[in-house]
Amino acid sequence: MTGVVDFLYIVAAILFIVGLKMLGRAETARRGNLVSAVGMLLAIGATLAIGGLSFEWILAGAVMGSLIGAVAAYAVKMTAMPEMVGLFNGFGGLASLLVGWAEYHKWIALGQAPARPVFTAIAIFLTVLIGGVTFSGSMVAFLKLAEWINGKPLLFRGQQIVNGLLLVGLAAGGVFFAVRPELGYPLLLPVVAGSLILGVLSVIPIGGADMPVVISLLNSYSGLAACAAGFVISNTLLIVAGALVGASGIILTRIMCKAMNRSLANVLFSGFGSGAGGAAGASYQGEAKAVSAEDAYYLLEAARSVGFVPGYGMAVAQAQHAVRELGQLLEANGAEVRYCIHPVAGRMPGHMNVLLAEANVPYEQLVEPGDVNPTMETVDVAMVIGANDVVNPAAKEDPKSPLYGMPIIEVDRARTCIVLKRSLKPGFAGVDNPLFFKENTRMLFGDAKQTVSALVAEFKES
Ligand code: NDP
Repeated sequence: MTGVVDFLYIVAAILFIVGLKMLGRAETARRGNLVSAVGMLLAIGATLAIGGLSFEWILAGAVMGSLIGAVAAYAVKMTAMPEMVGLFNGFGGLASLLVGWAEYHKWIALGQAPARPVFTAIAIFLTVLIGGVTFSGSMVAFLKLAEWINGKPLLFRGQQIVNGLLLVGLAAGGVFFAVRPELGYPLLLPVVAGSLILGVLSVIPIGGADMPVVISLLNSYSGLAACAAGFVISNTLLIVAGALVGASGIILTRIMCKAMNRSLANVLFSGFGSGAGGAAGASYQGEAKAVSAEDAYYLLEAARSVGFVPGYGMAVAQAQHAVRELGQLLEANGAEVRYCIHPVAGRMPGHMNVLLAEANVPYEQLVEPGDVNPTMETVDVAMVIGANDVVNPAAKEDPKSPLYGMPIIEVDRARTCIVLKRSLKPGFAGVDNPLFFKENTRMLFGDAKQTVSALVAEFKES
């Protein structure tokens, strides 16, 4: 039986890896998700087959979890996905913490000592520690992203000292776990409490535009916690799956840091956007030139090359279908149309790709900043649709701006730039945008779906 289970575990692990690889490309992502889900089904089936388990509880859990997952998948709006991912990460961490706790309880309270006590004790400690940090950190990230609490970084005097003392305390807890694991709850409970506090303290100083990095980092932590839990219960597949999540989370974290031109240490400790050191940025003066849909239509009608730059506002307005329709009309009018996607546009990694895929925009029309920026001077019209931070030229022009150094889509270098948004208000990072006052910028104010639909109507009427 163990041989069969091991074989199924290997198949499941291969399916996870193949699925993960397929998730890397928009064309194969859906199938990749399915392949990984089949892998997970195999893994669960094989684990249940090992025996000695009480099926009623597992069935009850599976039904409840599936129901909650299905309802959430339908009910949660696309714009609320980041906080949903935050919640999922947190629950993953909590599940690992509880696995560690349960194994420790079996050992201490029920006398079922493991075969390798020191190894298991260290694995339990790491599971509880990483699981706890992931859970409470993710809950804070969720509350910030859902705007149930202030999303700004919270810094207080002596924060690093408190964190340092907490880390020393937790390290001491780890040593006790290794040398005196029989101490029981007087040892476990302070470690649980300490890890929960550490999670909160690690995420409160982070806010604003750094939240996407934190979410992917917490995702990585949830994988590491599961990996550690795999060592606790000697389940090879859990170790593999956890390591995959941990590694992919850290790769995504790196990609996000690179997209913002920040180091991970800077993201975690600098308190970006807290107002310290002029982080609120400059306020730019000038006259923003508002245009009507009809004026914008004339600009677009004459354009041979158009670049759409979608952002969070397109998601809020649900304008992606209207944007695709406008793109098709522009192509029929002889223009070359591209969709320029910034890696941190929107509120979650891949947000714009998902929306444009939903609207059936051809993948080959999607381009990255590195591809489009060098040719920006040849773009007749750059259409910014509800994007703000990712096109803010202060990132390259104003060394005092908190965004300074972040790679952007350089729409200000296009022949004409039309910005579609409702006001001159700043975006997620809370930083003013000088783009609105540039000579070649035109503002088309209003809800993006309505303004894009008005442009579509202009094309159809002409
Ligand atoms: P921004 O948040 O910078 O700007 C979005 C703009 O959309 C706003 O300025 C708003 O202006 C406009 N808007 C909102 N609703 C509408 C509407 N109905 N119609 C038209 N416009 C609308 O978005 P970006 O995509 O440029 O940048 C993303 C930001 O979010 C970055 O700072 C990034 O770091 C951060 N972030 C990214 C995550 C990710 O994983 N991608 C996750 C979390 C944060 P107005 O109110 O005037 O209409």
